[in-house]
Amino acid sequence: MMWKQRAKQAALIAVGALAVGSAAIVWLWKDRPDLHDIDWPAPVIASAAATDSVTATWLGVTTLLFDDGETQILIDGFFSRPSLTDVLLDRPVENDAAMINYVLDEYRMRRLAAIIPVHSHFDHAMDIGAIANRTSASVLGSESSAAIARGAGVPEDQITTVIVGQPYEFGRFIVTLLRSRHAPIGWRGSVPMAGTIDTPLTPPQPVSAWREGGSYTIVIAHPEGTAIVQGSAGLADHSVGEFSADVVLLGVSGLESLGRSYAEQYWQGFVTATGAGGVYPIHFDDFTRPFGEIVAGPTFFGDLAKTAKWLEGFREQWDNDAQLFMPEFGRPIALYAQPVPEA
Ligand SMILES: [Zn+2]
Repeated sequence: MMWKQRAKQAALIAVGALAVGSAAIVWLWKDRPDLHDIDWPAPVIASAAATDSVTATWLGVTTLLFDDGETQILIDGFFSRPSLTDVLLDRPVENDAAMINYVLDEYRMRRLAAIIPVHSHFDHAMDIGAIANRTSASVLGSESSAAIARGAGVPEDQITTVIVGQPYEFGRFIVTLLRSRHAPIGWRGSVPMAGTIDTPLTPPQPVSAWREGGSYTIVIAHPEGTAIVQGSAGLADHSVGEFSADVVLLGVSGLESLGRSYAEQYWQGFVTATGAGGVYPIHFDDFTRPFGEIVAGPTFFGDLAKTAKWLEGFREQWDNDAQLFMPEFGRPIALYAQPVPEA
C-alpha cells in the first residue's frame, strides 16, 4: 500500500530531522565562554564586611536570598533543576523535594518572610509553592505565580497577588514591584513561553506549563540601602527612574543576542537612571545544570564574554563611579559595604 510506505518515509524523515536538530542544539549548548575570563573584582563577602549588613546570596539564575539578620526575602525559587533533555523534550518534571529541603537547611532559610518571583517561568518560579509550604513564607507575585502556589496547596492567607507600585513591608525591608517586560528573546522578538497560568498548577508538568505571567522589576529598599532586581533583560519602565538605587542585579540572559544598542538602553534604564554604584550580572549561568553547578550559558543564547565587555564600556562611558562585580554562588554578598574604588 503506497500511502503506508509514504507515511513511513515521512515519519523516518521527521525522526531523522528531530535527531539532527537535537544533536545540533546539544552541540551548540556546549559552546560557552569561560567565567574565569571575566576578571571583575569579587564582591565583599559578608564575613569580611565591617558591620552587620544586608546580604544577598545568589543561588543561581536569579534566585537571591536577601537577609538583614532579622528578615529574609527570597527572590525566585528554583532549586529543582530539570535537565537539558527535560527542557528540549518538554517532558513532565516535578519539584525535587530532597533538593529543596537540602537548600532550605544549607542556606538557613528559617526567617523567610516572602518569596517574590520576577516572573513565572520554571527557571524562576518552579519551586515557590514547595518553599512556601516548608517555610510558611508568603508568595507575592502575579496571578500566575499565585496559581503555582495554589497548585502546591499553599494556604490562601500565604498568597498575595501584587499591586504594581505598592510598597509591601517585610520587617525592615520595603519591597515594590514595578511593571516590567521579559527580554524579547523568543522567535522573532517574542517572549518564550508567554501567556498566563490560569488554573492551579500541580506538577508533574512539562516546563512549558510555567508561563511567563507578567514580569516585574523588584525594588528592595532597606534603611541600609536600596537594591533593584531585574530578572529578565526587558527594557526599564519609566517608573524605574523614580527610584535611586545603591545596587542593581541585572539579568543578562540573551542580552547579547538583542544587540548593542538594546544593551545600551537596558544599562541606561537601570544603572544610569538609578545612579547605582554596584552592578551585578545575574541569569548568566546555564539553568539546565544541577543546583550549585555554575557555568556560563551557551554562547548562542547570548555571549557572556561579549556582554561583559559591553558592560565595561557602558560603565566607562556613562557611570564611571559604578563598580561591576561577578556574584559567587552561595556566598552572602554584603551589598552596602563595598570597598572604596581605587583612585
Ligand atoms: Zn523567563
